[in-house]
Formats: sequence, C-alpha cells, structure tokens
Amino acid sequence: MSIPRLLLGPGPSNPHPRVLAALSQPLLGHLDPAFLTLLDEAQARLRSLFGTQNPLTLPLSATGSGGMEACLANLLERGDRAVIGVAGAFGERMCEVARRIGARVERVETEPGTALPAEAMADAIARVRPRVVAFVHAETSTGVLQPVEEIAAASRRAEAFLVLDCVTSLGGVSVTLDAWGVDAAYSGTQKCLSCPPGLSPVSFSERAALRVRARRTPVQSWYLDVTLLAAYYGSERVYHHTAPISMVYGLAEALRVIEEEGMPAREARHRAAAAALIERLAPFGFTPLVAPEVRLPTLTTLRLPEAVLARGEAKLRRELLDAHGIEVGGGLGKLSGSVWRVGLMGENARVENVERLVEALATLLRG
Ligand SMILES: *Cc1c(COP(=O)(O)O)cnc(C)c1O
Repeated sequence: MSIPRLLLGPGPSNPHPRVLAALSQPLLGHLDPAFLTLLDEAQARLRSLFGTQNPLTLPLSATGSGGMEACLANLLERGDRAVIGVAGAFGERMCEVARRIGARVERVETEPGTALPAEAMADAIARVRPRVVAFVHAETSTGVLQPVEEIAAASRRAEAFLVLDCVTSLGGVSVTLDAWGVDAAYSGTQKCLSCPPGLSPVSFSERAALRVRARRTPVQSWYLDVTLLAAYYGSERVYHHTAPISMVYGLAEALRVIEEEGMPAREARHRAAAAALIERLAPFGFTPLVAPEVRLPTLTTLRLPEAVLARGEAKLRRELLDAHGIEVGGGLGKLSGSVWRVGLMGENARVENVERLVEALATLLRG
C-alpha cells in the first residue's frame, strides 16, 4: 500500500472518519424499516442542506455526472431549447448531455476564471425562451463561485426551469434552492460532503415534478426517471432499484456531521482555509487566478510561479504525492500546465492541511 493520502485536488476529498465507520456497518435490506428510517432522516437533512422544502429530494445512485444527467434528462425533451452557461469543463459537460438528449443548446461562454455575465445570460434567455436554463454554481475546473440571483430572475421571467450544478458547493458554501428559485439541482458525495464518491444528492421542485409528468414522451432513461424513482424515494417506498445501502449509511453520517457543525461555521472554515492557502503560498509566487468577488472557497486555482514551471509542474505534483502523500490537481483544458487546483473541501478545509502542503512544497523546492 502507498502512504495515506491527503486529497487536496478537485475531488475526491478525504471522507470523515465517522463516515468511514458508518460505511462498514452490517447491511440491512433496502426495504427494511430500519433502513427506510435512516433514508427518511438522510432525505430530511438533504432538504435542509439544499435550502429547500422539495419532497422530491433524494440521494441518487450515481456520481455527480449522473445527477447532471438526471436533471437534464427529466426536464428536457427532444427539440426543446436550453440556455447553458459555460464557464469551464462542467458547463461544457452540461451542453454535451443536453445535446445527446436532443435539446437545441444555446451556449453563453465566458473566459476560464471568470463568472458568467448575468446580462448575456439574461439576453439569451429572453431571446431563446428556453425550456431549461442551466449553469454551474461552483465551477471546479476554474475555481469560480457563480452568483445565482440575477440569472435565476431572468429564468423566472421566461418561465424556464432552472437547473443548478451544486457538486462543489453543497456542504462547503451556502446553497438556498428555494430562495433562489432553482427547479432542479444535483451534487456529489465526494467533494464537500466528505464521503467517498457514489451518490448524487438531487432535488426537484414541485413545478419540475409536474413538468416531468406532463411530458409528451417518456424520460429516455428508465433508471433516472424521477417519476419512477419517486416510488421508492417517496412515501410508497416500493422497489425501483436496489439502493446502495452502505453509501446511504455514509451519507447519513456525513449529513449529521455537517448539521452538528452548522453550515455558517462550516462555510467560514472553508473561507478561512482558502484565505490561508493563498496567503501562505504567495511567498512562493503562486497567485490566484480568480478575482476575490467570485473566488470559490472550496477550490482555489493558482497560477504557477517560474520555479514550479521550470521544474515541471506535473513532476512536482507527482513528487508531492509520492514523497508526501499529498494530491493537488493540475489545470484542465486551456489552463492545463499553467495552474494548480487546490481543493480544501469538507473535512479537509483546515489550516493545518494548508500547513502540511506548504511544508512539503518548501522541502521539495529547496531540494
Ligand atoms: C466533480 C464534478 C462533477 C462530476 O461529478 P462526478 O462525481 O465526477 O461524476 C460535476 N460538476 C462539478 C462542478 C464537479 O466538480
């Protein structure tokens, strides 16, 4: 076995020890009343974390991309129009998913490291009158936290359904679906929830659920059809597919941990860790890519100093991993080779982890 890893990349992050313990609990059947009680509890806590009253809020048996696919596949039919904000790789992935569903996609793009311009989004929405507006709240490929309100208001004016990717925001920064007027949102367990990858918390508004029932054509994916998923994840609790029991144990425990800390304290902890990271790496010449107003506290993108480029950034990341057990992420797409992405997510968002990274880097750059 390799040395234990401190996972400071774009995800997965290290699970909380209580989550790891929960994962190894004896198995219950997926219709066992004791399991259904745990599932009820997890669904109630997910509603609270998402800032929603939506009954249709559940841990989908999939990773974050499966949640993306579920939101878009339920709300879009072939030929429908969608306006999608592309501020990085995950906005790009949304376009590809929507295109495969047969939607006509209007993209609104922005430079990597910047937020989507709300005016350009609003103009496109007013012009296209789409069925769905979709964008990423926390763009993990660039480190931008996208403001939601203005784009949400434009979607509401056009009576579009708003889909929000909360994979790297949920559990790290505040998410308030109902206050924003979001119709469908998804996340993933392995980023700020401090669980292993394997579940995608999703939430659909009542308006979205009505829309899915009013479709002309059935949802193309049987597995992801929320009208069918509602049979098990709603009050009937009848079989649709076998829920990943152990993962639900893990998620339920992760949500208890988050509730005990409280989201305001948790967000403050993420912000403090990210600020310490930027401050402590500045003397090495690392500079943040993203402007402070829209900088994402859960994932920081840093431009690389000459010393790191000269050494070879990929080589240095490999040395961090092999000699110190620390994983950080490289750049994606246009940013490849010129930035690092450092995730301080969930349990990992602590100044002591920043210090471990700084010490390891100092040792490697001296040597
Ligand atoms: C990680 C991530 C995804 C994809 O999640 P997977 O669990 O890898 O399928 C989607 N959106 C964002 C913003 C992400 O960071």
